[in-house]
Amino acid sequence: MNDSADIHDVVVVGAGLAGNAAALSAAEAGATVCLLEKGEAYGGTSVKAGGGLVFAGTDLQREAGVEDDDEALRTAILAAGRGASDPETVAAYVDHQLDTYTWMTARGVEFDYSADLQPGQLNRLHGTAPGSATATLHRHNLEHPGVTYRTHVTTERLLTGGSGTVVGVTTTDGEEVRARRGVVLASGGFTRSDELLATFAPQWLSTTRLGGADNTGDGLRMAWALGAGLADMAYVEASFGACVPAFPDLADVPGREPTLLYANAQGAVIVNREARRFVDESLNYKQISVSCVRQTDGLAFQVFDARIMERSQPNPSPSDYKQALADGLLLEAPTIAGLAGLMGVDPDTLETTVATYNGHVDAGHDPDFGRPIVDRGGPGAGRIDAGPFYAFPCRCGLTTTYCGVTVDRSLRVLDVYGEPIAGLYAAGEVVGGLHGATYYSGTGLGKAAVFGRGAGLSVASGAVG
Ligand SMILES: Cc1cc2nc3c(=O)[nH]c(=O)nc-3n(C[C@H](O)[C@H](O)[C@H](O)COP(=O)(O)OP(=O)(O)OC[C@H]3O[C@@H](n4cnc5c(N)ncnc54)[C@H](O)[C@@H]3O)c2cc1C
Repeated sequence: MNDSADIHDVVVVGAGLAGNAAALSAAEAGATVCLLEKGEAYGGTSVKAGGGLVFAGTDLQREAGVEDDDEALRTAILAAGRGASDPETVAAYVDHQLDTYTWMTARGVEFDYSADLQPGQLNRLHGTAPGSATATLHRHNLEHPGVTYRTHVTTERLLTGGSGTVVGVTTTDGEEVRARRGVVLASGGFTRSDELLATFAPQWLSTTRLGGADNTGDGLRMAWALGAGLADMAYVEASFGACVPAFPDLADVPGREPTLLYANAQGAVIVNREARRFVDESLNYKQISVSCVRQTDGLAFQVFDARIMERSQPNPSPSDYKQALADGLLLEAPTIAGLAGLMGVDPDTLETTVATYNGHVDAGHDPDFGRPIVDRGGPGAGRIDAGPFYAFPCRCGLTTTYCGVTVDRSLRVLDVYGEPIAGLYAAGEVVGGLHGATYYSGTGLGKAAVFGRGAGLSVASGAVG
């Protein structure tokens, strides 16, 4: 062993939501923890996110009269994964989710809940103000005597002992940081790695990157080098709904992070530059992205009216249409034809598209794309006919990579043969197997919190290496 090695019970790589949840859980269970962050500050993708986390059976749901439980959640996640999710990884989520919610709430994370956030679906998204969940857990870590937090430390490789057990990490500065009980990889995905995107998702190489600036898949490589199994690598997709700040006539704020907006969840139609619908707007943003990228200039518009604007809510931020309006990201006009002029599309076609859609709402059936026509609070309430009218120009953006290393229910990393790699745990976006072929919205941040909490508890109880 290097005499100058820094020694802790646990080393956590990456200080996003997963890393902060893992470090705090492990420290609260009595372990000494070193939380290493590559960037200049904590947060990663987690502090850029919209803020919705999936939980089931919470007090907020009960207060809203919503009945929900673990089994319903398991069914929903497996259904979203279209048969490609790993049931054990889904079980890891289900097993730890309610405990994680209760634990976060007890530490001061504030959740909002609205039963009708996504009309027609049982809502499990618990909103937080963007970045607030990570900030709250991070504050606890800074105050915890068992946690050492360091920034500007890039973990490069995993250190193994004689039996192949992971006993620490090395950094790009040549330093060794040793772990008596284990290492938790919480280094996020690879939205910022051209090399890994070229390998696993070349179709998205030229897409706007929305993930954390330092998320270059380092943890994935480190685990891969020790023979870790990989899951869901074929299912990397971009997300539909990233704003286009430079769209003609929209205010562009230099340095502003791209914003996601989902007015379609509340009934907006999505049209292309030809002013025509092209997709079932009720699909999730990962699925819609596949259709959106094929449209002219990869551009789409979410078109909605004053009624939908009134359903705006601050958290999670993709539901905050009013803020998007205040930020100058929406086009607004008193008529559909006027809106078409601002969008640069043919007014007659847009009027026909909206009128046809309103006819589908009246008939209760969408023969064009099969969008379920849901009850939005009375006859005709789903029609888009109450001015002023709004359009949100948007494209696809790469928010998260959805895939990664295989784990068991205790968040131990498994090798290609399904055997645990001793001393190695993973949490958050670096983990594969949960989402499968598509994505249950809100399980990105959810997976960071829930797997972070689970991995922290597991590693703290791990054998001394
Ligand atoms: C715009 C946007 C909106 C989103 N909205 C939602 C939402 O509402 N709901 C939802 O569920 N999901 C959402 N997501 C996805 C979600 O944010 C991510 O899945 C989640 O934040 C991943 O958390 P994480 O802790 O695993 O990774 P991160 O938060 O990215 O943290 C990883 C950390 O590891 C650090 N790191 C990387 N490599 C190293 C290294 N070698 N050494 C040390 N540190 C390293 C990084 O710098 C980073 O700080 C959104 C994403 C984006 C971009």
